[in-house]
Amino acid sequence: MALIVKKFGGSSVSSAEKIINIAKRILSEKQPDDKIVVVVSAMGDTTDELINLASQINADPYKYKREMDMLLTTGEQVSISLMAMAFKTLGQEAISLTGPLAGIRTDAVHTKGKILDITPKRVIKELDSGKVVIIAGFQGCDELGDPVTLGRGGSDTSAVAIAGALKADFCEIFTDVDGVYTADPRISKNARKMQEITYHEMLEMARLGSCVMQPRSVEMGKLLGIPIHVRSTFTMDTGTIIREEYTMEEKGFVIRGVSHDEKVVKIAILGIANDTDMEHMVFASLAEENIDVDMIVKSIHNIEKNVADLVFTVAESDFPLASEIVKKLAERVGAREVVVDRDVAKVSVVGVGMLGNPGIAARMFGALSGTQIGMDVISTSEISISCLVKQDLFKKAVNAIHDEFFPVE
Ligand code: ASP
Ligand code: MG
Repeated sequence: MALIVKKFGGSSVSSAEKIINIAKRILSEKQPDDKIVVVVSAMGDTTDELINLASQINADPYKYKREMDMLLTTGEQVSISLMAMAFKTLGQEAISLTGPLAGIRTDAVHTKGKILDITPKRVIKELDSGKVVIIAGFQGCDELGDPVTLGRGGSDTSAVAIAGALKADFCEIFTDVDGVYTADPRISKNARKMQEITYHEMLEMARLGSCVMQPRSVEMGKLLGIPIHVRSTFTMDTGTIIREEYTMEEKGFVIRGVSHDEKVVKIAILGIANDTDMEHMVFASLAEENIDVDMIVKSIHNIEKNVADLVFTVAESDFPLASEIVKKLAERVGAREVVVDRDVAKVSVVGVGMLGNPGIAARMFGALSGTQIGMDVISTSEISISCLVKQDLFKKAVNAIHDEFFPVE
C-alpha cells in the first residue's frame, strides 16, 4: 500500500475531457489498497480571468485582499467538484474538500498566506473509507475561517504540505513538462531530463530563473522530507525526483543545470563617496520597499578622491520603484550619474558538485569567451555561479555553457 499525493496544475485540468482523463489515468495506476489524494489548481487560466474580472470593478483590486481571496478560491472549488464527479462516474468513490475542510490553517496574510498547520482528520477518515480525496490547492483559512490564498502557483505548496501532514510516501507534481531539465529545452536542444535533483539545487535553480515549481513548495518538501516527483500529465514516463540526496549514479556531472533569467535589470550608481554608510543607505531604502537586490558589485573608482561605483541587479517587476528610489537617493548624496541597463540577462550554473571542485568558474567563463560572449557582473553562492550577458546573447550563452558541462556524445 502507498499513500500518494498527486497534484495537477491548471493546464492539466483545463477541460472536462482532461479532468475525466486524469481520473482514468489515476485509476489505471492505482493499486487496490493505495490511498490517493488529488490536489488540483483552477481550470486553465481561470485565476487570471478572475483577476481580470476584478480589475474591471476596480483598477487595483488587490487593495481588497480579503475579497480577492474570496474570489480566487472559487477557481479551485470548480475543479475539485468536477474531479470528484469524474471519479464517481467511473465507479470510484471520491469526495472533494476545500482547503479549510481539509484542515489547512494559514496566517491571515491575504493573497500571500503561509500554511501554519494542517489537521487532516477529515482527509484521513475519507481515505480510510476507501474514497479518493480531492483537495483544492492554493487555499486554506485563517483563525476566523476566512479564505486565504497562498500566492500564485501555490497549489504546489498545498500538495507538498498535505503530503507532509499525511506522511505520504511521496508527492507527484503533474505538469505540462515531463521533468526538470539541465537547461530550458526550448533554448538548448541538448538539454536532458534529470533523473534526480536535490532540494537545494532545485531551489537554487528556481531562484535563478527556472520556474518548474513554486519555490516555497520545494522548501516545504525539504523541511518535511517528502520526495517530490515532477512528471508529465500527458505521458506515463518517469520524470525527475527531487530529494535530499542522490540515490542513483548520475556521476560525472559537477553541474546539474544551467538557468537563465531574462527579467533582470542592472542599475549602476556612479561616482559616490566610498564610505560604508552609502551602501547601507542605498540597500536599506530598497529593502524598506521590499525590493530584493540580487548581484552586487562595488568598485573603487578613484582611490585618491575616494570615489566608488555601485552596481546591482533587481527583478524587472521591481525596476520602476527601484529606479525611482535610487534616482532620488543619488540626487541627495550627489552621485555623478545613475545608469540603468535593461538589455541584460542572467545566466547561471548550479550544482552541489561544485563544492570542493575548483575550476567551475574557469570552465564557465572559458565557454563564454570561446564564443565571443562578453560578460558583466558576476556573483556566486555556495552552489552556483551567475553572470550577466547581453540580452540578445543569452541563448547562445546558455548553449555554450551547457555544451561545456554536458558534452554531446
Ligand atoms: N490557480 C492558482 C494560480 O494560478 C494556483 C496554482 O495554479 O497553483 O496561481
Ligand atoms: Mg504551477
